[in-house]
Amino acid sequence: MAKKYNHLHRLKKLTPKRQKSDAKLYKCMVPGCTYQVPVSFAENLIVQCSRCEQPMIMDKLAMDLVSPHCQGCTKVRNVKRVEELTMIDEFLKEKLG
Ligand SMILES: [Zn+2]
Ligand SMILES: [Zn+2]
Repeated sequence: MAKKYNHLHRLKKLTPKRQKSDAKLYKCMVPGCTYQVPVSFAENLIVQCSRCEQPMIMDKLAMDLVSPHCQGCTKVRNVKRVEELTMIDEFLKEKLG
């Protein structure tokens, strides 16, 4: 049976070179988590949005993305600044523990 995790997985698509497209995997980016799932099995999984960090459901749109994010974030085209701020925020969190 599926192992239980104490977090929502934050998936990132691995795209191995020279492999069949169905060999693509999503891997969880949460430190210490080794969870991974084939992209074709990821649909409807509840994961963490890579941008706003809210729970989201993997849909076809999200499955096209390397770092899946929710539809709310998809609509915001000018996300570069937000991403930068998020990165800064994460960097500070890491630094400050
Ligand atoms: Zn995980
Ligand atoms: Zn989001």
